[in-house]
This record gives sequence, structure tokens and C-alpha cells, in this order.
Amino acid sequence: MSEFLSKDYGSLVPYEPGEQPKIENLIKLNTNESPFPPSPRAIEEGEKELSRSRLYPDPENTRLREAIAEVVGNGIEKEEIFVGNGSDEVLFLAFNAFKDKGIAFPDITYGFYPVYARIAGATFREIPLKEDFTVDFEALKAQKGTVVIANPNAPTGIFAPLSEIRDLVESDPNRIVVVDEAYVDFGGESAAKFIKEYKNLLVTGTFSKSRSLAGARLGFGIANEALIRDLNLLKYSVNPYNVNRVTAAMGYGALRDEAYTKRNCAEIERNRERLAKEILPFGYSSLPSRANFLFVKHEKLSGESVYRALREKSILVRYFDKERLRPFVRITIGNEEQTNALIDAMKRVAEGI
Ligand code: PMP
Repeated sequence: MSEFLSKDYGSLVPYEPGEQPKIENLIKLNTNESPFPPSPRAIEEGEKELSRSRLYPDPENTRLREAIAEVVGNGIEKEEIFVGNGSDEVLFLAFNAFKDKGIAFPDITYGFYPVYARIAGATFREIPLKEDFTVDFEALKAQKGTVVIANPNAPTGIFAPLSEIRDLVESDPNRIVVVDEAYVDFGGESAAKFIKEYKNLLVTGTFSKSRSLAGARLGFGIANEALIRDLNLLKYSVNPYNVNRVTAAMGYGALRDEAYTKRNCAEIERNRERLAKEILPFGYSSLPSRANFLFVKHEKLSGESVYRALREKSILVRYFDKERLRPFVRITIGNEEQTNALIDAMKRVAEGI
């Protein structure tokens, strides 16, 4: 830290991104990326845009927002869509925009939430998950400030029924509920269908997982026009060109190839269910996941030792050094070949105890 850094940030503990190793032939199942390449249509649209990079992108992203609105359906219009540099940026802006009454989120969830709350200077409260790792909706309903939940949650993968989300949103129209749906396309259901009904609901989504565009950085928010205007106020005060030309075009192309996305998601879901079942005889169990990852523990090994043993076998997963999470590893679901190799390696790890 230099002596010049603002004292506001001296004690900031940043989010720790999963490792992006340079090692070859490693099976990388640690950051919930897609094992499939972007759709050929996304690549084609992106390439067309490269030579236009001399020009700033459309700050309004009209074509992309129209395409997102169409795919989201439920009568959503482009005025109800915001796009950002990854859903991380959408969440960052939301934490800043809606912080006045404090922000609450589960204690076990996406690690960025407390970081965003701190950098926004917001007071925040972490609400413990229940014993079975589900979200405590009753406790969230008692909160006066903004509530943020990931659905499916991370790193558990557990999906909360939409009826719970709806009750939470409805229980206090003066409290904003942000539903982070980064992983909704792998068997979850979107709360976007409630947007027309409630003025206090913001749903965020990403192109990083189901649409294989983690490296392009594209995310979106869905909410009524007034909330979208709030996010735009902040965006136009920081970076009007937050989504670059090539990324916007790739996102548009991906949305024109929904069949490709659906096929990939179906394969991920198949591999996830197979993984959950086939590791049971070796002493592993997992939480019920509707995401592109599985939260797994072994009856005799800590999460860290499973992580280390798999790494020795050239498979990279993630563990979390945090209360209640230490028994687990979070494993991103890969393609069929990767899943076969993973099951084999997990069997060998268990046999080697
Ligand atoms: N929300 C959750 C729960 C996540 O796990 C992630 C991915 N790390 C994000 C949001 C952000 O994804 P992105 O910025 O790539 O859209």
C-alpha cells in the first residue's frame, strides 16, 4: 500500500478470484466457466466487429438489450434491461445505488457481496444459512434494507423456489430485492417473470456460464424502468462505454443461437447428475445443485485435502477456508470426457486414504 491510498480503502479485503493456471493439460474445474466454446454465431458476430473498434461502442447497447429482452420473454422490454461488464459490474452498481438502508445477504454466498458493500461504504449484515444450507427467508424478510441473494446460491448450488422469492419481494415494497441469477440456466427458474408486478425487484444474469462468454465480460440486469434509470445514472457517471463493441456483438450472436446454449446446459445438467450419483460409493456426498457446479464433501477428508489430491492428478477444483465450508470442494461441471476423468480421479483419491 502506498502512503497515497485513501484511508477509505486501507482495510479493504478484495475478492479472491479462482486461480487461472498456466499449466498445460490441467482439467480446470475451479471457476464455473463453460467447458464449451462460445457459439459459432457469437464468434462470427464478434469478428465482424473487430475492424470497427476505431469507434466507441453504442453506449445504449440498443440492439443487445432488445435481444436480451426477447430471450428473457415475459413481455420484458429493452427499457427494463441494463447491460454491464460482467454481472459483477451490474451488482457493483446496484450495491452503490441501493445502499442507504443497509444491505443484507446470506453468510454463505458469492464472496463479492461483502466486498461490494464495503467499497460502497454500506452497512451490511450477513444472515446465516439454515442448518441444511438453504436461505433463511424469514430472517431476510425482517430486513429493512436491500436484500441480495444468489439463486441458485453459490457455492452450494441450492435453488430456492420462486414462491419464496416472490413472498420476500412482496413482504415489503419499500425494500429492494436483488436476485443474482448467474447460474439459473442449469435447471433453475428465473424470477424475471415477476418484474412487471413489482417495482422493488432487480434480477441479474450473465453470459459467463451458460453462454460460454466469461472472457468477454457481459452481464445484465432486469428491473422496472425506474431502477434501470438509477443504474444508468451511475453507469453514465463512471463509464458510459462499459461494454465493448466486440463483447456486445458476441453477446448478440450468442442470443441468436439459443439452441446451442440449451444443448450445452442439458449436457452440463446430465454430467452433474451423473457425477453426484457415481461418486457416492466412494464416500462422497453433495448438496442438491441446480448450477453448473457441485458442492461435494468426503466422509473422511477435508475439502483442502481433496483439492490437493485432485490437483496432483491434474484436476483443479476450489475449496473455501471458511467456517462450515471446510469439509467441501466446489467442482465445476465439465464435458463428458472431463467428468469421466474426474470420477476416476475422485475414486483413486478415496481409495488412497
Ligand atoms: N454472481 C455469482 C453468484 C457468481 O458466482 C459470479 C461468477 N463469479 C458472478 C455473479 C459474476 O459473474 P460475471 O461477472 O462473470 O457475470
